[in-house]
Amino acid sequence: MNLLEKSKAIRNQEITALDSLEKFNQVIASKNSNINAFVQIDHETALKKANEIDARIKNGEKVGKLAGMIIGIKSNINVKDFTISAASKTLENYMGSYDATVIQRIKEEDGIIIGMTNMDEFAAGSSTETSFHGPTNNPAAPGHIPGGSSGGSAAAIAAQMCDITLGSDTGGSIRNPASHCGVMGFKPTYGAVSRQGLLDLSMSLDQIGPLAADTSGIAMMLDTIAGNDPKECTSIDWKVPNFTALLDENPEEALNGMKVGVVKQFQEVTDDHIVNIIEDSIDKMGEMGAEVVELSFDYVDLCLPTYYLINYVEFFSATRKYDGRKYGHQIEEVCGDEVLRRIHMGSYISQQEFSGKYYKKALQARSLIRKEINKLLNGVDIIAGPTVPKLPHKLGETLEPMEMYAYDVLTVIANLAGIPASSMKAGEVKGIPVGLQFQAKPLDDAKIVQAMAALEKAA
Ligand code: GLN
Repeated sequence: MNLLEKSKAIRNQEITALDSLEKFNQVIASKNSNINAFVQIDHETALKKANEIDARIKNGEKVGKLAGMIIGIKSNINVKDFTISAASKTLENYMGSYDATVIQRIKEEDGIIIGMTNMDEFAAGSSTETSFHGPTNNPAAPGHIPGGSSGGSAAAIAAQMCDITLGSDTGGSIRNPASHCGVMGFKPTYGAVSRQGLLDLSMSLDQIGPLAADTSGIAMMLDTIAGNDPKECTSIDWKVPNFTALLDENPEEALNGMKVGVVKQFQEVTDDHIVNIIEDSIDKMGEMGAEVVELSFDYVDLCLPTYYLINYVEFFSATRKYDGRKYGHQIEEVCGDEVLRRIHMGSYISQQEFSGKYYKKALQARSLIRKEINKLLNGVDIIAGPTVPKLPHKLGETLEPMEMYAYDVLTVIANLAGIPASSMKAGEVKGIPVGLQFQAKPLDDAKIVQAMAALEKAA
């Protein structure tokens, strides 16, 4: 039973929201102390909400799209009455005083928020090891990192602790942990989902999106959260497709006639074992009627420096409000090494005399990357390739910053270009999940969802 079928079963009173919640509660009780996917749980409110939804269904009242779905939220998205720590000591006591736009929409559609998930401190990482709450273990590959920064949101899905989670993706933070944990993750087009209420890492790159065990969960959440938000200046006024309706009839036929681009340089920077798995998926897409075309992108080396320079500068600016007066502690006094590195680098690069040398160049490189990737996308429907170029390391292993950044080379492109991108499980290498990434033109989010649903059906 996929998530859409489950939501129908709840509506038809074949299962109750309460049963579903209690099953998840048992899993959380038995596994969370080891996995550390959730850093805060509110059983009581969830229980009340589940009972209320079951009663409304019983009375024949109308319920929302997410009625009875149990949902986890990354700890950098404001939810009223939860601690919004961004996994930092800086905000250890910061209570959400309002609901982010995405949370308001989830509540309006009767989703049940069960708790807050673990992450890298301020979302600045790719492993969830820098969390003030301690690291998250990978349920799909125990003893390995779950990826990051939305590691708790991916692990909660992989460990079956809830139905759907929200993450944020600035340079891969939804897709990277989805890849390492073997689940589905989706980063919408920049501006397609409101960022209002998300704590900034790098505001010109940040985007909120869903993680789930199957495409129908991704589609249900996109139907809920996508769409214009007049309160948020980067939000786009766009015609939101009906994502779940795309899955109604013969979703496997969507690949028939689709033009799928494969960028050879993306494979060249990727571990051979991972490439083999990705090639199998691409062959499969070919068998399903896709026309596979080889593409070339000459700027892979430019992506990480461009991304990190912009990230440092915007993050430095975003953290100036954590001066110890209004929100919690002064950030520089309590934060971890990676956050401090970014603040120092950002402050340095932001100085007048250096900004021409670094920041302005990064902005130019960003325009170039955006232009080139859009050029490639103009000739195809989607680009398919690896999500992450290497396998996750073991928990406890120490990596140099550059080795950590190297995880992101294939995911930062979508953020720099503002395009939609996803990850879904393609297979395993030595028992460790490997993710297949799709990217598409701005606002072609639906094409990606269709490709995911088609390939999922064929698996
Ligand atoms: N790993 C990248 C970084 O450290 C991406 C993080 C993210 O997407 N939030 O910035």
